[in-house]
Amino acid sequence: MASSAPLSAARRYSRRAGRRPGRADGSAATPGGGPGVRRSASSRAGPGGGRARAQGKAERARCRKQTPYPAPTSRSAEAAPRRPLLKFSRKRTARASSGTCVPPDVTSATRRPRAACASAQPRSVALATLERPRRCELCGAAARLRCGRCRLTHYCDADHQKADWVSIHEKICQLLVPVRTSLPFLIPEEERKHGVEQLVKRQKYIIDLTYSTAQKFLWDGKHEKAMPAALHALRFSTEVYGSSSVQLVPAYLLLAEACIGVGHHLQASKYLSQAQWIVLRTPDCSTAVQHRLHRSLGLLCAAEGNFEQALYHLANDIYLASSTFGLKSIETSGGCFHMANVFFRQNKMDIADSLYAEVTDIWHAFLTKSVQTQEQIHKSRAEKSPFTEDKEISEDNMTEAQQAEAIQVLNAVLDIREQAPKQQPGETARVLHALAMLYYLVMDLSKAYEMGTKAFDLLKQLPQQESLEAIGRLLKLINSKPFYTK
Ligand SMILES: [Zn+2]
Ligand SMILES: [Zn+2]
Repeated sequence: MASSAPLSAARRYSRRAGRRPGRADGSAATPGGGPGVRRSASSRAGPGGGRARAQGKAERARCRKQTPYPAPTSRSAEAAPRRPLLKFSRKRTARASSGTCVPPDVTSATRRPRAACASAQPRSVALATLERPRRCELCGAAARLRCGRCRLTHYCDADHQKADWVSIHEKICQLLVPVRTSLPFLIPEEERKHGVEQLVKRQKYIIDLTYSTAQKFLWDGKHEKAMPAALHALRFSTEVYGSSSVQLVPAYLLLAEACIGVGHHLQASKYLSQAQWIVLRTPDCSTAVQHRLHRSLGLLCAAEGNFEQALYHLANDIYLASSTFGLKSIETSGGCFHMANVFFRQNKMDIADSLYAEVTDIWHAFLTKSVQTQEQIHKSRAEKSPFTEDKEISEDNMTEAQQAEAIQVLNAVLDIREQAPKQQPGETARVLHALAMLYYLVMDLSKAYEMGTKAFDLLKQLPQQESLEAIGRLLKLINSKPFYTK
């Protein structure tokens, strides 16, 4: 009896909407239906639907040839004449005129029908799916396209579908199917509980994936590509943890940094205000979160040319990061790097110089340790069982985001060192050595060799040659790789 109320509610909903519950798209546009859902009689195409369906098929086939993502399926092409979009929000108009993807307003990005996510308790899966309006995944405008692969994700236009696909949807398209498909109504309580647990696990996996993807795009300097991934990180974090949880802060910071990268400072400050508000309301907020917030605030102030305020936030970032991770940690080096950039822009070259040297030292030490560990693993491979080796490798490997950060930071420092009016060959050689180790670890051996030989040649001309031996050893290692060809 307990399940009869939601069931009748679902029937009422399906009668009202002219479709069966659980179907992601109520239109008659696409043949078939959502996973495991049949189309209702009322949703089939009317007279002339066959010809329109054939045209739609041909159009989709053409799209498949031209685009790297699955062909969109139109929701309204067959059953009714194509309607214009219901409304263009200010954000969409701005995007169209600037040619860039502007993220939606904070509230609209996370808006769920009837303020769903106030508590950390996950909502009823079936209701969550039933109530979801067909809105564009990126901007929240009325949708008229949907992903032809998962058939559960909607877009206002092809531009937004493509932007989402290249950013994150390609990775999560199939992961969304179990997350966005309703559980059957008539199942035992135990099974429902298990289903909800599985759902939360999957959502958390998607949060990790979207977060790390967005973070990597940011370190690669691809800010626009990072936005859809960061939006998904925020959306799923909101669904799992609620709208005022401190777990949302990392996603807000990603969005803010992406906005700063594409010059949308106002939008960035809105995201940062949200993050700040959450941090202020969380008395036991960790310093790890606070240092990231100060870094993002510092980056925004620096982008706006407010250098004094930027230095204030970056000093806080360095203080909090060093008290949590240590003064010589790579978490702290990030703040030093951004602070050096501010001093560089202020033309205070002495301070900038010493900070760049500090950043190089931290990465140099970190990479030296990583290369040594890698070598120990290779040496012990013959003696140990494969199981212990795997454990060691996974513990010591750099994360993808760390690799991207190191590549961005060290190349930026190298550029500055090489273009400086007053050359410091010792410092330049140190950056080159760090880069050679980094490229060796990520198995880009030709670049590793190039950087290593440059560092070696520079150091040969100097009186102090203590690093020469280490670089020579690294070059030997690179040459020893069987698949390396110069
Ligand atoms: Zn859109
Ligand atoms: Zn999809």
